[in-house]
Amino acid sequence: MMNIIIFGPPGAGKGTQAEKMQKHFNIPHLSTGNIFRENIKNETPLGKKVKSILDAGNLVPDETVVDLVKDELSKPKYDKGVILDGFPRTVAQAEALDSFFEENGKKIDAFLTLTVPEEELINRILSRGEGRSDDTPEKVKNRLSVYQKETAPVLNYYKEKGAVKEIDGVGSIEEIFDRIKDAVS
Ligand code: AMP
Repeated sequence: MMNIIIFGPPGAGKGTQAEKMQKHFNIPHLSTGNIFRENIKNETPLGKKVKSILDAGNLVPDETVVDLVKDELSKPKYDKGVILDGFPRTVAQAEALDSFFEENGKKIDAFLTLTVPEEELINRILSRGEGRSDDTPEKVKNRLSVYQKETAPVLNYYKEKGAVKEIDGVGSIEEIFDRIKDAVS
């Protein structure tokens, strides 16, 4: 049982590394962004509710995200643990996650934050070619400012709890993954 949070700004490589961790540690990857995009693609009620928010690069309301994550984490597949990617993204979400874990006798085993200079983040996002509607220069600017304002405080929240491991997010995918394995073991 291992609950890991992979944290960092947009373009830091969270999704890529979370996929590798899922395979290596045999723990399911939970990406809130992927769930939202899937719902938008399938035109579900949730998808319709969040589409314009994702398109703008803003944050989905805490209550919506927290309900979604709690529902998801209650599924038996997460009995082994979880690799959380893209959540928590606000201090309120972090507090809700902590209470949820506490109520369920679980804890965060590792909080990994990927560090990448802002210039490189922008270059990576604009060249990744995943066809995301929020990967345009204007949206990326907004997503980075939302990150600074709403999400960066989550790092301080967990730093105060003494659980943060900083990972240098510059290098090849394999180099970064080696750093993650070292930090988790
Ligand atoms: P991501 O794939 O993690 O970059 O997320 C893409 C978009 O989904 C974000 O820009 C937000 O609009 C939305 N989103 C994903 N996770 C969250 C979250 N934890 N809280 C609020 N909005 C989120």
